[in-house]
Amino acid sequence: MDYARILREIAEEVRPLVGQGRAAEYIPPLARVPRDRFGMVVRTVDGEVFAVGDAGERFSIQSIAKVFGLTLAMRLEGDAVWKRVGREPSGSAFNSLVQLEVEHGIPRNPFINAGALVVLDLILSHQPDGVDLVLDFVRHAGAESPVGYDAAVAAAERATGHRNRALAHFLKSFGNLGNDPDRVLDAYFLLCSISMSCAEIAAAFQYLATGGLSATGERVATERQVKRVNAVMLTCGVYDEAGDYAYRVGLPAKSGVGGGVVAVMPGRFVATVWSPCLSEKGNSLAGTMALELLTTKTALSIF
Ligand code: GLN
Repeated sequence: MDYARILREIAEEVRPLVGQGRAAEYIPPLARVPRDRFGMVVRTVDGEVFAVGDAGERFSIQSIAKVFGLTLAMRLEGDAVWKRVGREPSGSAFNSLVQLEVEHGIPRNPFINAGALVVLDLILSHQPDGVDLVLDFVRHAGAESPVGYDAAVAAAERATGHRNRALAHFLKSFGNLGNDPDRVLDAYFLLCSISMSCAEIAAAFQYLATGGLSATGERVATERQVKRVNAVMLTCGVYDEAGDYAYRVGLPAKSGVGGGVVAVMPGRFVATVWSPCLSEKGNSLAGTMALELLTTKTALSIF
């Protein structure tokens, strides 16, 4: 497979879409990222890396980090995770309050904001410095370079995160948050502010394409956990665009409002793409098109 050529073609073909849509303006530092950025990486399970555009530039990974959180929680708690959070697509926005009220404080899935708060609450109950545990996991899984938080993004999330505060307190009122809501929120804002490049994300996600082995060949998840994390990514990873992604891309994927999307082709590759402007649903517009082109040109998808 000539991934280098395919990536060059994709970068060319998505150009007209780059800069269309809107950046995540509700988090001010994200609104200041240049709109013309586009980067993409394909990393094969053998560790071969193909890149195009701004693939080495770090950006705010936002909700992509929720995948690391879920994997960690599954390692710590096993199936008990699913007593506190569902695994059904939400069909509504990632920060919706309505569904949580109707469903008595059990978030639909671990990738909407409410679900990620519950997952972090679980992690914090095991480990007081729970977010560092997530970063450790990322370093372990990806290995190549030290990864950290973007302090400005974390501060902006803290300052503007009124909806997330509402969700955390709502969860607490339903008895689905063990820790103090402010503590869980602090962890959540840090989690969202992790900064990584497409290349770093692809390395850190390698375990989901290899049945659990990290980029350095260490076992960081069981095959059973990997199967499940990928299933939840397919059905819930891109919020209320999950159906469209399955149709157009055909791979488990996870997006973040920083404009990153990571997709997994089990047994073959991890693909990461970044372009900051988003669709109405909060997924990178150019990124989605790039992934659709990748599975079209390679004729590889889980279907
Ligand atoms: N930090 C963002 C929020 O809480 C994460 C959302 C996302 O990436 N979809 O709103």
